[in-house]
Amino acid sequence: MQSSRPVGEGGPSPQGWVGEGGTSEPLAVYIHWPFCRSKCPYCDFNSHVRDGVDTVRWTRALVRDLEHQAELTTGRAVGSVFFGGGTPSLMPPETAAALLDRVRLHWAVVPDAEITLEANPNSAEAGRFRAFAAAGVNRLSLGVQALDPAALCFLGRAHDRDEAIAAIEHSREIFPRFSFDLIYARPGQTVAAWRNELDEALTLAGEHLSVYQLTIELGTAFATLARRGELVPPEEDSTAALFEITQDRLAAAGLPAYEISNHARPGAECRHNLAYWRYQDYVGIGPGAHGRLTRAGTKFATQQYRLPEKWLAAAEAKGSGIEEIAPIDRETAIEEMLMMGLRLVEGVSRARLECAARGDAEALFGSNLAPLIEGGFLILDAAHLAATSAGRQRLNAVLGALLS
Ligand code: SF4
Repeated sequence: MQSSRPVGEGGPSPQGWVGEGGTSEPLAVYIHWPFCRSKCPYCDFNSHVRDGVDTVRWTRALVRDLEHQAELTTGRAVGSVFFGGGTPSLMPPETAAALLDRVRLHWAVVPDAEITLEANPNSAEAGRFRAFAAAGVNRLSLGVQALDPAALCFLGRAHDRDEAIAAIEHSREIFPRFSFDLIYARPGQTVAAWRNELDEALTLAGEHLSVYQLTIELGTAFATLARRGELVPPEEDSTAALFEITQDRLAAAGLPAYEISNHARPGAECRHNLAYWRYQDYVGIGPGAHGRLTRAGTKFATQQYRLPEKWLAAAEAKGSGIEEIAPIDRETAIEEMLMMGLRLVEGVSRARLECAARGDAEALFGSNLAPLIEGGFLILDAAHLAATSAGRQRLNAVLGALLS
């Protein structure tokens, strides 16, 4: 059982935790804006619909939380900042500017730092892209999700096809780097229809595309429909065929997969997300955000209050919305490293894995490893443990077999 200590509620002072030696890798900084115009029926993110968000209060509270976390990570450099949500393009650009000013004030920022904003393609939000770029955002990630009007309607998106295409063109003009997301494996979607949609996406894409398989998450409107039999997800065979066509089509167009759902021209991968998948350190600011920070060779998990109102009250009262900081035991750290790293085509660095395990990889997995290698799901060489394409398609089962 991990021990944990709530911040500001009688545990050791956070100050005692500072300066005990982290790692020299740059930090990734995640900032969560938890509000959306409406709730999409497939979404289980920490996103909420609220009337009249007090953006002045929220800006002040996010800045305080950021400053608190800068104190916990003194001496670290920052390599990337990611505004996620929710819908951070609903945030005033001045909020992004204030937060980025504080990032530069409290941390050394690497010269080519990647600063990403997630945005929805509604014309109202697209009209503010220039202001976000002026605030320092240099990469946009657009939630397009589909180019087919009926699919946009099914997915409950608040934009139409024309707005999506206009927002892609607009972001190409404004941001040095941009990406957009698509969702496939929608009910009734055929391979031929998806191939056409992907081909159109490729005519619009820049250096990066995120292509997610629709999953029915507990607690969502789609889960209710599926339970009633009113939404029937595609069969496994049909999903596998859609996955394979996605991999082949995008690789042939120069955007090979570097992660299960992410494709990029080599060198154009999302550096912020790579930090998660490589199990490097990151700071999580805002409601529900997680962090992973290394101190004196031990990983710590930080967890923020999830509900926006609760988070805001804590940030205003205590100067931080962190609910808990807890050390991660070695076994859990290895599991997390594998769960994240095996999503990547490059896999997990063998040196990193063996350092965390304090032993060699073969001994770590015992007799579980060989059948997965022989079955064509994993590869282990001198540098990496990686899942094959077949392994990435059924990663939960592979992880279950590896770690049982
Ligand atoms: S816009 Fe994004 S975060 Fe908001 S509800 Fe829809 S999918 Fe979820």
